Amino acid sequence: MQEELRTEPKLKSKTESQLTVLKLGGSVITKKDEPMTPNLKVMQRLAKEIADASVEHMIIVHGGGSFGHPLAKQYKIKEGYKDPTQIEGFLKTHQAMLELNKLVVDALIRHNIPAFSISPSSCVVTKGSRIQIFYDSTLTRLLNTGFVPVLFGDAVLDNNTGFNILSGDQLIATLAIRFKADKIILGVDVDGLYTADPKTNARANLMPHITLPNLKTLMHNIEEAKVTDVTGGMLGKISELIPAINADIKTFIVNASKEANVYKALKGEKVAGTLIEKE
Ligand code: ADP
Repeated sequence: MQEELRTEPKLKSKTESQLTVLKLGGSVITKKDEPMTPNLKVMQRLAKEIADASVEHMIIVHGGGSFGHPLAKQYKIKEGYKDPTQIEGFLKTHQAMLELNKLVVDALIRHNIPAFSISPSSCVVTKGSRIQIFYDSTLTRLLNTGFVPVLFGDAVLDNNTGFNILSGDQLIATLAIRFKADKIILGVDVDGLYTADPKTNARANLMPHITLPNLKTLMHNIEEAKVTDVTGGMLGKISELIPAINADIKTFIVNASKEANVYKALKGEKVAGTLIEKE
């Protein structure tokens, strides 16, 4: 960390307050069309919003954006281990994510948030790309002590295919269910869930409120994000959230590229976006 902290990060004693799982989309914290380019200004702004919201009990997960996705795609990591040349790609993808994670965690600590990095590849093993094993003792201990664990989409080991990409979206649903979250906030670079991709379809309409049955009917209308994204953009994102929504965890999709939205969502204030509920 280059700059001095203004004050020291403080641990908040564990209270009965409910857990919030916040996802910072890769498209928000990186420049998605420029390889390995962080959006440092946005990271600092989001760190300030998170600090100002003063949430007691929180897990943060961030996406890969232009750090993880292009490498994962280039080396076909999602197809599993087929060829020794992929080893280099597996390592590079993980290293790129560690680099991005350091920037995110540094920004949070600079704003006095007791953020602590956890590599998903060190505590998760997937089977056929689904989380099979999750060693959660460290995470539980961190949360109980008042730290804010920060995880990310990562290159992980897989019991079927050798290795894989674990999306931040699969991770948030699993974390939210396992740690009985009250709500999930999904920060993306559009105003919420639309009837089609708003970047390519001018007639796409924002859906401010959806229930799970409605969502399932709408699934087939949701197009995949057009830029490089091995986790399938919005389509993959929403389908990953279904188990959490089914467990009655309220899910808000907000535009984290716009100032104050994440702050308002964390505070429970009214904010434009999409609220997805079980019923
Ligand atoms: P992140 O990397 O930030 O988690 P993604 O890039 O994977 O997010 O997904 C967000 C993108 O999904 C948006 O930028 C948007 O262009 C695209 N998208 C595709 N279909 C939809 C939809 N129906 N509603 C909203 N966004 C959509």
